[in-house]
Amino acid sequence: CMQELKKFHDQPSVTADGHLLEIVSNVGNPQDAYAAKRSGAEGIGLYRTEFLYMGCESLPSEEVQFDAYKVVAEIFGSTAPVVIRTLDIGGDKELPYMDLPKEANPFLGYRAIRLCLDRKDIFKTQLRAILRASAFGNIKLMYPMIATMQELREANSILAEAKQELDKENIPYNREMEVGMMIEVPSAALIADILIQEVDFFSIGTNDLVQYTMAADRMNERVSYLSEPLNPAILRLIRNVIHAAHQHGKWVGMCGEMAGNLTAIPILVGLGLDEFSMSTGSILSARALMSKLNRAEMQALAEEALNMTSAEEIKQYVNNKVPAVA
Ligand code: PEP
Ligand code: MG
Repeated sequence: CMQELKKFHDQPSVTADGHLLEIVSNVGNPQDAYAAKRSGAEGIGLYRTEFLYMGCESLPSEEVQFDAYKVVAEIFGSTAPVVIRTLDIGGDKELPYMDLPKEANPFLGYRAIRLCLDRKDIFKTQLRAILRASAFGNIKLMYPMIATMQELREANSILAEAKQELDKENIPYNREMEVGMMIEVPSAALIADILIQEVDFFSIGTNDLVQYTMAADRMNERVSYLSEPLNPAILRLIRNVIHAAHQHGKWVGMCGEMAGNLTAIPILVGLGLDEFSMSTGSILSARALMSKLNRAEMQALAEEALNMTSAEEIKQYVNNKVPAVA
């Protein structure tokens, strides 16, 4: 009940056997960030900056962006992490003033990092704003929709240019700012061991990773039976991603809806996921659940689940094994 959940508000996210996890939140604007803090989030795992762009009549200036990012960083103070994702426009999210040509397959088209690498002016303005805000809190930067090492390297080289500009202008920023990328395209999940060498962390975007792996439009009700994150194919990709990052001593988060799913959490804990980013409403029940899980047991549970044939079978198995979930 709510009263019982309340006691988890100010507690760390930790398993019954003392393994420390992190529960952070997904937000779209500074107001959401206040709400997330009040709801017990330990930081922000995904700040969807496209909503800032969508709320403007034209491209937001560096100054407008800087103000918004700084506010969110300051809400969480100097240590709690705030992961800011660079512009993820296209797909289901339109920007009327950019007047982009209609595409037959917008989810497979000109979107997110693809657009940003093409429109370096837009991208660099945002990178400068994020870098400047990094002087005011524990900001981490994250690229969406990376599919190849080439894209990651291009993004990183534009970031290096932005840093050089700020250096020349004597504008402060956090030189140690962590830079990560989302894993939401299957190609990236498959070469995670290569990509991790040029980032500080991964965050798995299961909303898109499921869509692209299962070849099922995430908005199409008629194929929604395929949009199931507990599918063994998805779990195997997730295992690969976490393993690759940990081999290199890096951390892995998840910011897709799956991270707040109570049936998925025991498996994700077993697979070694470090950070769980979810909507504010899920935070306390996720933390309460984690407090009842034993990590070694969840590792065994995950191993079993990954050899099962369907999401249905996996869900039933978890709900029987982990009574706290059902
Ligand atoms: C995702 O794809 O899982 C994700 C978190 O990004 P978005 O939902 O904004 O596409
Ligand atoms: Mg996505």
